[in-house]
Amino acid sequence: MPSLPPADCAVPNLPGGDALFSAAGQALLREAVEERLTDISGVWIMRLLARDLIAALAPAMERVLQDAGFRIFSRRVRAVRITRGVREHGSCSLPRSNNAECRLAFSGRLFFAGNAAVLIDIVAHELLHAYLAAREGHGARFHQGMARINEALGLHIEVHSAKTAIRQSEALYRYKVVCSACGNTFYYLRAGAVVKHPARYRCAKCGKGALEVFRRT
Ligand SMILES: [Zn+2]
Ligand SMILES: [Zn+2]
Repeated sequence: MPSLPPADCAVPNLPGGDALFSAAGQALLREAVEERLTDISGVWIMRLLARDLIAALAPAMERVLQDAGFRIFSRRVRAVRITRGVREHGSCSLPRSNNAECRLAFSGRLFFAGNAAVLIDIVAHELLHAYLAAREGHGARFHQGMARINEALGLHIEVHSAKTAIRQSEALYRYKVVCSACGNTFYYLRAGAVVKHPARYRCAKCGKGALEVFRRT
């Protein structure tokens, strides 16, 4: 006898498919995502939303790329992970030895009320990597595919998403590392190498070895 799915699976899936080729359908998806972002908490619920978004976006994205003459890979999404990333919004791991699957990860800090449009763009960005060759990165094909998808599906996928996509409220970090030369600031939840040994590191922006660590009390 098959076991029952977890109760969370009862959450209705998102509007997607061909509906996303119209402005009305695009708005419906944003509204549905926004509704689920209201009071969202817990990694499990975030992962479920990310999975539903992938399912909603994939058929429309595939159609756009195929219509544009792209030879796309149909990789199975093997895993979706929610990270604590502050600087990285999402990632797509493509094993070079296997073109049949991919692993996606998204920062849990993207999941907050009011951030639906940004979340959709970032999921679409990582999904686009999954359709292209592993060595493509943010190359010419990525840019072409991005432009086609943005136009057809009313998205705003970017190569590098704005810093504001991620919520960086005081409550979300424990350590702040500031470059006293240029003011460049990083946030960390855990005491990693930079936090423990700031003198061993140089600022990524100005190159000076002047990092100061502040611990939130
Ligand atoms: Zn990328
Ligand atoms: Zn600096």
